[in-house]
Amino acid sequence: MFQNLLKSLVIRKSSSLRKFLPLYSTKLQSFSTSFISNCKVNASINIQNETIELTSNVKDSDSIKALKFPFVWLRDNCKCEKCHHPTSSSRIINWEKFDVTVKPKNIMYDDENNILKIEWNDKSGHISEYEYDWLDERNFSDENRNIYLNKFYRPAKILLNKIDMQHKLEYFDYHKVIQDDMELYKWLRSLITHGIAIITCVPETESEVRVLANRVAFIRRTHYGEEFIVKAKEGTSNVAYLPENLQMHTDLPYYDYAPGANLLHCLVQAKSEGAENLLTDGFYIADKMRNEYPKEFEILTKVLVNWSDIGQEDNIHFHSLNRAPMICLDYEGNIDRINHSIPQRDSFFTVPLKDVKLWYKALALFVDLIYNEALEMKTKEGTVLCFDNTRLIHGRKKYLDTKDNRRHIIGAYLDWDELYSRYRVLQNIFEI
Ligand SMILES: [Zn+2]
Repeated sequence: MFQNLLKSLVIRKSSSLRKFLPLYSTKLQSFSTSFISNCKVNASINIQNETIELTSNVKDSDSIKALKFPFVWLRDNCKCEKCHHPTSSSRIINWEKFDVTVKPKNIMYDDENNILKIEWNDKSGHISEYEYDWLDERNFSDENRNIYLNKFYRPAKILLNKIDMQHKLEYFDYHKVIQDDMELYKWLRSLITHGIAIITCVPETESEVRVLANRVAFIRRTHYGEEFIVKAKEGTSNVAYLPENLQMHTDLPYYDYAPGANLLHCLVQAKSEGAENLLTDGFYIADKMRNEYPKEFEILTKVLVNWSDIGQEDNIHFHSLNRAPMICLDYEGNIDRINHSIPQRDSFFTVPLKDVKLWYKALALFVDLIYNEALEMKTKEGTVLCFDNTRLIHGRKKYLDTKDNRRHIIGAYLDWDELYSRYRVLQNIFEI
């Protein structure tokens, strides 16, 4: 019911409300209004649970819809101009004087305008007003929270084995992505859900990766600079610049805040055999380990590894260190980030002795699994290979670097905060 209604909502792009409300609010505005029309809402105070409850008959059904909101949350989220600054969509209520035991003195439901009005029992007799649809989109039901988290906050990821990755991999025309917001949106959605996408028909100049990154937000700078050039070079500060086998890895695990996504523009591809990319969905592997090898999974999520990078670039010396597990879980226990790099794993392994051998065994299993599920793909000149660096594990097969057989890639990173931000702005325009 909820989802069907959500799908049928119409976005009012030119609505004047849009300027004053957060985009997410505006989006659901029309949905709730259509739902509530002709439905009488009953508002009541539940003193025992310290909540206000709004109940209404669900249209064309015998069931009752009940929304419950704690007093304290309602008071905290008052939308009057003393408590909320509209153009910045920010709370400005003075929390130094906030009373968490605040209670309503009177409530009133305005049926005509679908507004809940509350007079509070504080000294000033503060009055708050809330539109029904604004409340409804924030209701605390499990269903509502799931929609927000998996649709709006961060779209759910689809985990891919090797075969799935080959079938689901989507291609996007560079010029369309640059010129058309819908195409940009589709590319970002593909990158978020699959962790990989390819841009085609990219002009063969060294600046296109920057143009593409700027289309989203801005390049994430690291101690290697902004754009980086991947071509064989002697005396290199990074093994990625050797033509030998580049073992499967994630980039820059030695950054606490590792770069979110890689953009690798292939300007010149080796004509000889070799130089194929290897790509594995690390989240798929971690999920498989959780189900099939729970002990090894636990070890890789608990044992802290020192990831390091020591060197210099343009005469600037660096010594980066980040202590984190190979499989990082988020606050809710979901797989959040993979760290894996043989060269960038420090010989300082500062864990209890008893953990060391077990950890190595779990690592060996992980490496076996990622190579078994690696999609092999030689990128074509004029394409940008885009992938989620917190999720995809990538490598490259060796090739013979000679005068007549060069390989030239320009890379850049984007951060997930910026990718998601851009995605949400576009989602508010396009998603139905
Ligand atoms: Zn207020």
